[in-house]
Amino acid sequence: MNRVRMCGHLVAPGRGYSPGLGPTPGSSLISRPEERSLESRLVASTAPHASPDPLAGLEDRRLLRDLAYLGGAWVAADDGTTFPVDDPSSGTQIAALPRLGAAETRRAIEAAGDALPGWRAMTAKQRARVMRDWADAMREHSEDLSLILTVEQGKPIAESRAEIEYAASFLEWFGEEAKRLYGDVIPTPIPGRRVVVLKEPVGVTAGITPWNFPSAMITRKCAPALAAGNTMVLKPAEQTPLSALAICELAERAGVPPGVFNVVTGAAEDAPAIGEEMTSNPTVRMVGFTGSTEVGKLLMRRCAETVKKVSLELGGNAPFIIFDDADLDAAVDALESCKWRNAGQTCISANRILVQRGVIDEFTARLVDHARGLKVAGGTVDGAQIGPLIDQQGFDKVTKHLADAIDGGAKVATGGGPHELGGLFLQPTVLTDVTPDMVMSCEETFGPVAGLIPFDTEEEAIRIANDTPFGLCAYFFTRDMATAWRVGEALEAGIVGLNTGFVSTEVAPFGGVKESGLGREGSYYAIEEWVETKYFTFAGL
Ligand code: NAP
Repeated sequence: MNRVRMCGHLVAPGRGYSPGLGPTPGSSLISRPEERSLESRLVASTAPHASPDPLAGLEDRRLLRDLAYLGGAWVAADDGTTFPVDDPSSGTQIAALPRLGAAETRRAIEAAGDALPGWRAMTAKQRARVMRDWADAMREHSEDLSLILTVEQGKPIAESRAEIEYAASFLEWFGEEAKRLYGDVIPTPIPGRRVVVLKEPVGVTAGITPWNFPSAMITRKCAPALAAGNTMVLKPAEQTPLSALAICELAERAGVPPGVFNVVTGAAEDAPAIGEEMTSNPTVRMVGFTGSTEVGKLLMRRCAETVKKVSLELGGNAPFIIFDDADLDAAVDALESCKWRNAGQTCISANRILVQRGVIDEFTARLVDHARGLKVAGGTVDGAQIGPLIDQQGFDKVTKHLADAIDGGAKVATGGGPHELGGLFLQPTVLTDVTPDMVMSCEETFGPVAGLIPFDTEEEAIRIANDTPFGLCAYFFTRDMATAWRVGEALEAGIVGLNTGFVSTEVAPFGGVKESGLGREGSYYAIEEWVETKYFTFAGL
């Protein structure tokens, strides 16, 4: 049995954990540590845990479920197989979860279909009560949910607490909003007629979510879906199923009826079969997805076969523009939430930081100062600000982007490679002289790397900002009102932040344009995604 030594502990190697990666300059950044096959991870999964249990602090251990949830029952895979879930801070395995496939997904869909008539027949007020209890349960168990989230995902515990509150806010907000799903009465040109418009649930829906916000991406879908009277089968990401199952446990306690919310777990190798069932099964009428643009396109193509509704929250490549007249301290502070948060692994991370030449030296100095003060540590460590990356694949992507930029002439102002903690930790990095054609400017880096691109004019900044197939979020900093309106309107993005790096709230419509997605999550615009509009006409009156 392979063992690796890290931070003084003997640990079983987990999710793509690569030992002994110290800071290595230049080309060694782009070497690709070997990927572990599912089989080798399954061998590791049988190993005894040699490091202390990072989940020992849980108060309510019943939140730690290791079975999937179908039709109100906790179930193993039909063939009994499991996949490992690891702590990215240490590389240790923390759980083994069932590997479900098409057959179990089909049964989950049937269960959701059976539960649909009863759930949609409830009044909006009754459903809102259940959802309010669910949100309250999440808040009551916030510490436990945050610990589970941090241990399986790696983000600092303070960020997990914020995510749990954000996740609960969707349940509360959409439960209330369902009471306001008004229809319409339209004056008719034909005598003896009435025209009425009804908002009805779509039916059985499917949700597929990523690992970077393992709780909030779930409730951002199931809250509007269930509030509107739909039922759902959810597939969480391979890396973070424990948060999904803990939320599910609380749904059960809050009185969500069996079959209304189902969770299908699986390894990455199972995702195509689960996804195929969700997208081809005619009972499913809508698929809500958050994840990469590549997988989003695939799901959309498959949904076309049975003309399902889709809501797609896909990848971004956010520009963050600082004009000469900007408040530089505010801009540096804003990067706290949209660059360093979640170690840069958010879809709305500032990926291209465009700085006007008049302030670039001053801004660089302030940002470097800030980055050097960030605490890199495991997510449960007090005061941690930058945790590990999610897995070896994510780590390799960031180091490749760094190597490409440095090869192309970018200069390292601070950081520049793996952190001395080793494993999946990277140093917060600031690069100057980045150009728009470097890989890190064209693709999401998804890491704690701030690349600064200089520009001269407003037109140039807008041209660079819009020169991407993505259009999720854009930020800019100026104190001039005319610049604010011009630039805000010119940016091709579904979300624009002026003088802020924080844009996430349950009351606002979150979503992208271009290849960043279709539809919106959050706000009253989002509940419209999860309903059908029925035109009902009465004649002979
Ligand atoms: P991903 O690879 O697309 O995975 C997302 C989800 O899709 C996971 O549950 C994954 O399952 C599943 N999946 C993969 N292949 C599938 C298939 N063939 N059929 C059905 N499901 C499949 O994305 P990721 O790399 O984990 O997540 C990061 C991406 O999400 C980034 O691009 C980020 O920008 C985007 N994101 C967007 C938003 C937004 O609101 N726009 C928010 C957060 C993240 P497995 O984990 O089992 O492979």
